[in-house]
Amino acid sequence: MAISNALLLLAQAAVYFIVMMSLLRARQVIGIGVFMCALGVMHFLETYLASVFYIELPFGIVSPGSTVLFSGKLLMILLLYIREDALIVRQPIYGLLIGNFLIVALVMILRNHDTISVTDGRNPDFAFIDEMGLLMVWGTILLFVDAIAIIVLYERIGNWVGRHLGLRFLICGAAVLTFDQAGFFLALHYVSGAPWHVFVGGWAAKMVATLVYTALFILYLKYFDNESSWLTNRSFKDVFQVLTYRERYHKLLEASIRDHLTGTLHRSQYDQNAPKILAKNLQENRPLSLLVIDIDHFKQVNDRHGHQAGDEILKMVARLLADNLRSDDHLYRVGGEEFVLLCEKLSVEGATSMAERLRKAIERFSKIYLPEKVTVSIGLASAPQDGDTMEALFRQADLRLYEAKKQGRNRVFSPVTVD
Ligand code: GH3
Ligand code: MG
Ligand code: MG
Repeated sequence: MAISNALLLLAQAAVYFIVMMSLLRARQVIGIGVFMCALGVMHFLETYLASVFYIELPFGIVSPGSTVLFSGKLLMILLLYIREDALIVRQPIYGLLIGNFLIVALVMILRNHDTISVTDGRNPDFAFIDEMGLLMVWGTILLFVDAIAIIVLYERIGNWVGRHLGLRFLICGAAVLTFDQAGFFLALHYVSGAPWHVFVGGWAAKMVATLVYTALFILYLKYFDNESSWLTNRSFKDVFQVLTYRERYHKLLEASIRDHLTGTLHRSQYDQNAPKILAKNLQENRPLSLLVIDIDHFKQVNDRHGHQAGDEILKMVARLLADNLRSDDHLYRVGGEEFVLLCEKLSVEGATSMAERLRKAIERFSKIYLPEKVTVSIGLASAPQDGDTMEALFRQADLRLYEAKKQGRNRVFSPVTVD
């Protein structure tokens, strides 16, 4: 009896895994929506089974709905995340949440009908419908938390579990399903009076299910996988932001002030903020320096290596500049390959040595890592001695940049050099 129950469960897990994995694998041909709908359609049945359908196994009484279907779904969500990313996987996560609440809302209206009996003695069981509704709400919230938790945990433990994909999968499944079992049992206990041993049996079954699914996954990887690496190494904080839709707001806010390619502040930010920064520093009797930084012979770099390689070099220069900033420095991309660095509280001398440091850092880095040496020329001006408006400062710095170019490039030209 128990053996045949176990075999039946195994058969369900195998069918579930094979069909869902096939849909995931074929997503580029048939579309990811097929996988997501198949995943979603299961939820109601799971809840129904979890409240009425129990079987006996050697280690206790278990619910196939929770064991095979629910555990399977959570692991499928994780697999979808690994194969795609947080942007894709959050769609079924939110779809399930909203869809399930929608069912509950509709049923709450529907149950107010005066129903008629078409077949003798067959009437809707309202007590049961209400019980199911409660379990749906609770199960849906748990699933939502579980799905986000399993993905974040998967990334969180990536560093120390590393390349052992099966182990990573197993740990995440076991941890999150344990949490889930505790949560779901509480509801089951209070709603339908499920006894304590149901928790233990259900938990053991979920652990076995995790093992079985991990084994199936490892078999799949070994014999059927032909896609690129399954190893992800994304920042769990970023992933969490995306899963909770919070990245949109930050991204929008940031995108409007930052240059898309280099991540430095836009020219518009320079126009808007630089005069205010200057005014503030003049008022407080502090020096302010302005560096105009231009990549040397960048046109030739583009011509020799292509525009895309040029973009990469631009990004690298921007990153080297950004990595060397103090908190009082502001970096803007003001032209194609031209940056402005505005340094508060920095005198001519300080700014000149900073400019030298930046110039050398770029030269040194490019010598080691790039196909050819990339250098910059820098023109420098400081307030108050070079002027007290941004226009005057920029004009002076630009003239000095021109001078640096004329004298052979890869150099800094500042009032200190001129004098
Ligand atoms: P110089 O040493 O005199 O500054 O020489 P240069 O070639 O750097 O000067 P110029 O200002 O004449 O050329 C700038 C070149 O930068 C033109 C364009 O091909 C390239 N450029 C501008 N914006 C971008 C960009 O966003 N990406 C790439 N790849 N190239 C850019
Ligand atoms: Mg240039
Ligand atoms: Mg230029």
